Amino acid sequence: MDAISYERAGDVAGAVRAAQQSGAVFIGGGTNLLDLMKGGVARPMRLIDITHISGLDTVTTLPDGGIRLGALVRNSDAANHALVREQYPLLSQAFLAGASSQLRNMATVGGNLLQRTRCGYFYDTAFTQCNKRMPGSGCAALDGHNRTHAILGASPQCIAVNPSDMSVALAALDAVVRVTGPAGERTIAFADFHRLPGDRPDVDTTLQPGELITAVDLLPPLFSANSHYLKVRDRASYAFALISVAAALQMDGTRVKTARIALGGVAHKPWRASVAEQMLNGQPLTQATLNNAASAALREARPQRENRFKVELAQRAIVRAVNQAAGHAGGVA
Ligand code: SF4
Repeated sequence: MDAISYERAGDVAGAVRAAQQSGAVFIGGGTNLLDLMKGGVARPMRLIDITHISGLDTVTTLPDGGIRLGALVRNSDAANHALVREQYPLLSQAFLAGASSQLRNMATVGGNLLQRTRCGYFYDTAFTQCNKRMPGSGCAALDGHNRTHAILGASPQCIAVNPSDMSVALAALDAVVRVTGPAGERTIAFADFHRLPGDRPDVDTTLQPGELITAVDLLPPLFSANSHYLKVRDRASYAFALISVAAALQMDGTRVKTARIALGGVAHKPWRASVAEQMLNGQPLTQATLNNAASAALREARPQRENRFKVELAQRAIVRAVNQAAGHAGGVA
């Protein structure tokens, strides 16, 4: 058994200082980290408990009309917060689609951003090939079971997907992640926060060593009237997405003024369907336009042996989510 030291941080500066010790990691809700530790996937030497830092567990209004979600806001509290429900229903739906109510009561916004993939080979240390767990060892999923794996943006090193629902909605909303580290504070555009695997699948994000996530900022709400989070999974609750779609629209009558579409369950990071968005922007929302946009969103898909179904599933999910966002539950003409 490994010896682990525990330290309770009183403020952000103290947490960042403590994290500079070798083998230190932050712990918030612990809903993913403790699983990783129990399975021997993560073996930290020092746990820096950040849950007692004041000021990180609030939802506040920003001067520009956006909101700030503190990194320690619990997923269930964020989902049910009046500002989130009324102004960012897409995000509230995504929170509620994740995990179980018990886990949402513990999991934090910051921790949700750092969830690691649920690739079974990553969690099972009996498998000796996993570049994410042991760089350079190979990828058991390439020739193994890969039904749930990536169809976009993967590399020969890793075909895992990001499991977060929250992050798919935040990608569609162009959120900004606020962090504090040894070099001070900085912000990271959401599109730049998570990484594609490339030749470093062991690195999930662009966080620098010792940086602590302090908050996520949302721009003023533009999509509260027309948005929808659709999650397709093997069972109705407590399952990760096979495919998910965060669709947010600004409508001008029947015409799409601005479309935002992000996909989950398809890549190592939440995947913005930028080509599809461009094909919808400024266009009347017809079934033909929407079908063409959904097809274009998957044009670069490179499915694995067991997950070819994901390509059509993602296209259909985009069509359904955008229709729902536009208020056309039965489809458009
Ligand atoms: Fe490991 Fe990634 Fe391959 Fe899964 S897909 S076995 S996480 S390298």
